[in-house]
Amino acid sequence: MLVIITTPLVSTDPDKRVEVKVRFEATEPPLNTYKNKEPYIGTIKSVKRIVGPNAPGETCHIVIDHEGNVPYWEGQSYGIIPPGENPKKPGMPNSVRLYSIASTRYGDDFDGRTASFCVRRAVYWDPETGKEDPSKKGICSNFLCDSKPGDKVQITGPSGKVMLLPEEDSKAKHIMVATGTGIAPYRGYLRRMFMEDIPTFKFDGLAWLFLGVANTDSLLYDAEFKDYLKMYPDNFRYDIALSREQRNASGGKMYVQDKIEEYSEEVFKLLDEGAHIYFCGLRGMMPGIQDTLSRVANARGENWETKLATLKKNKQWHVEVY
Ligand code: FAD
Repeated sequence: MLVIITTPLVSTDPDKRVEVKVRFEATEPPLNTYKNKEPYIGTIKSVKRIVGPNAPGETCHIVIDHEGNVPYWEGQSYGIIPPGENPKKPGMPNSVRLYSIASTRYGDDFDGRTASFCVRRAVYWDPETGKEDPSKKGICSNFLCDSKPGDKVQITGPSGKVMLLPEEDSKAKHIMVATGTGIAPYRGYLRRMFMEDIPTFKFDGLAWLFLGVANTDSLLYDAEFKDYLKMYPDNFRYDIALSREQRNASGGKMYVQDKIEEYSEEVFKLLDEGAHIYFCGLRGMMPGIQDTLSRVANARGENWETKLATLKKNKQWHVEVY
C-alpha cells in the first residue's frame, strides 16, 4: 500500500474547497496495519471540548498525529490501548477500545498525518448515592479526553468495512443517522464530499444528515455542517433532534427516529431509489429506529422485514453501533 500526499493548497475558489494533492493512493482500504501486540505509537496533537456548558456530559475532539504511518479511509476506526493495567485481568495491559475516525484520510490539516476522534467521556453515575463515582469512570475515554498535546498513544488498526463510503457513483444519495458521537464517520464523509477537492470523487449527489443529541449545547460540528448547508443547499440536508428541547408529533421527547418519521415519505422514496442509509452511535438507538421504520412501512402497506432484507442484500444498509 502506498499513499503519498503532498501538502495541499487552500483553494481560492469561492466555494472554499481545499485542494488535496494526492499523487498515489491505495485502491483498497487499509486494514489492521497495526495489531494489539505491536501497536503504533502516535502523539496527541490537540484535545478540545466541543460541547457547550449546558451539555450533559463532555465530548472532545481529539487529533492524533500518526505521521502518515497509519493511513485509513473515511468510516474506519482506530483501536486505542489505554496505558495501565487491566482492572479485570491483573498483570495484563488494558484492552483495546475502538473509536470511529472523524476526519477524512487527509486529516484535519489535509496533510495525511493525523486522525481525529470525537470522544464522549464515560462517567459512572451511582444510582444509590445519586453522584458520580470517579473510581468507575471509563478508562480509555477519560485517558483520551484528559490527554495533552505531546502525550503518546498506542494505536491499532485501522479497522472496519461496513461504514466505508461507497464512491463509485458520485451522484448517490446517502442518509446518515447519528446519535451523539455517532457523528464521527459522517464528519469524515462530509468533509470529503464538501470541504476537500478530490480528483477522484466529485460529489454531486445528496447527503442527508439526521443527528440526535440532548440539547443545543450538545450539537457536534454544527458550524461545519451549517457551512455546507449554505454552500451546497442542493446536495446537503441537515436535520437535528434535540431530545431535551424539542417535542415530537405526539408530545414526547424528540429522538432521531421521530425526525426520520417526519420525513418518512422522502426517506422511503430515496431508499427505493437506491439510497444508502447509515446508522452510527449508541447501540440503544437501533430498536427505536427499527420500530419507527417498521411502523412507517406498515402504514405504507409494505413489509419492513422484506424491505430490510432487500436493503441489506443491495448493500444499502450500514450499521455501526456500540
Ligand atoms: P470502560 O472503562 O470500558 O468502561 C465502560 C463503561 O463501564 C463506562 O461507562 C464506565 O463508567 C462503566 N464502569 C466502569 N467500571 C464500572 C463498574 N465497576 N460498575 C459499573 N460500571 C462501570 N466512543 C466514542 O466516544 N466515540 C466514538 O467515535 C466511538 N466509536 C466507536 C466505534 C466502534 C466500532 C466501537 C465498537 C466503539 C466505539 N466507541 C466510541 C466506544 C468506545 O470504544 C468505548 O467503549 C467507550 O469510550 C468507553 O470506553 P472506556 O474505556 O472509557 O470505558
